[in-house]
Amino acid sequence: PLPDPGAVRRLAAKVADDGWCAPAGHKYDHGHALTLSGGMGRGGAARLAARAALRVGAGAVTLACPPSALMENAVRLPDAVMVRALRDAGALREALGDPRINALCLGPGFGTGEREAALLDAALDPGREGPPALVLDADALTILASNEALRAKLRPADVLTPHPGEFARIAPDLSQRLREDAGFSKVDAAREAAARLGATVLLKGPDTVIARPDGRAAIHAANGDRAAPWLATAGAGDVLAGMICGLMARGLDGFDAACAAAWLHVECALAFGPGLTADDLPEALPAVLARLS
Ligand code: AMP
Ligand code: MG
Repeated sequence: PLPDPGAVRRLAAKVADDGWCAPAGHKYDHGHALTLSGGMGRGGAARLAARAALRVGAGAVTLACPPSALMENAVRLPDAVMVRALRDAGALREALGDPRINALCLGPGFGTGEREAALLDAALDPGREGPPALVLDADALTILASNEALRAKLRPADVLTPHPGEFARIAPDLSQRLREDAGFSKVDAAREAAARLGATVLLKGPDTVIARPDGRAAIHAANGDRAAPWLATAGAGDVLAGMICGLMARGLDGFDAACAAAWLHVECALAFGPGLTADDLPEALPAVLARLS
C-alpha cells in the first residue's frame, strides 16, 4: 500500500479533539511520561523532551536525573517531577512498576555506557505487558545499533526515531542502498527497517517517514509552503521524541503518536519561523493545537 499522506494531519487533529480529553478528567487520566536525563550540563536534551511531552498534553512528566543535574533541571523545568537518577535496571523496573507511568522516552542526553545499556534492557523487559510505551532516540539508538540482543526485544508499538546518521548506524545496508539505488525510496528503507527491527520507525530529515513492521506507512513531506528547513536545529529531534512520548502517555499507539507528532512538530516550526531554536517548539504547541480544534 502507498503511504497515507493525510494520516499525519488527521491523527494530529485527534490530539485536539474535545471528546478525547474528558471534561471531568484529572491529570492521571492524561498519562504520565518518564524520561531520563544525563548528569550536570547534559540534561538539556531530556528537558526538551520532557517539556514537549507536557505541552502536548501528558498529565505529568517525571524526569529522573543524577544529583549533579537535579538543581539545573528543577530550576529550568519547574513543571516536571524530579526524581533521583535510576542508578540501575532494578531502580528503573521499580519506577516502571508505578502503574501511572505509561510512556517512557529514552535517548536524549542519555549516555551510551554499560549502565545505560542495562537501563535500556530493563525498559525492553520481555515481561512487560502493554505499557509503558517506549520512544527510543539518540543515545538509545546508538546502544541498539551495536546490541543485537536488545534489538530482538523491540515490539511493534515501540517507536525508534533515527535521523539519517542514526539510521546508518542501525541499518547500514539500507542507508547505503538509499544513497546508491535511485529506485529505493525513503519509504522503502523505513518499511524494511521497521519489519527487520519489529518496531515502528520514524525516519527523520526534510521529509519524515513513519513505518510499522506490518508495512503501514505515512509520510510527512515538508515541501511547498509546509517546508521548514529552519527546523534542522540542535535539539529539534529531542522535542519530537518528547512529543511522541507525551502523545503515547495520552493513549495514542506508537504509529499514531509518531504521525501526529511529526505533523505538530513541523507546524510548530512554521508557526515560529526562521530564528527558531528547539526550546521554542514546545511553546508554539498551544497555538497549533488551538487551530486544530
Ligand atoms: P535531530 O537531528 O535528532 O535533532 O532531528 C532533526 C529534526 O529536524 C527532525 O525532526 C527532522 O525531521 C528535522 N529536519 C531535518 N532537516 C530538515 C529540513 N531540511 N527541513 C525540515 N525539517 C528538517
Ligand atoms: Mg537527535
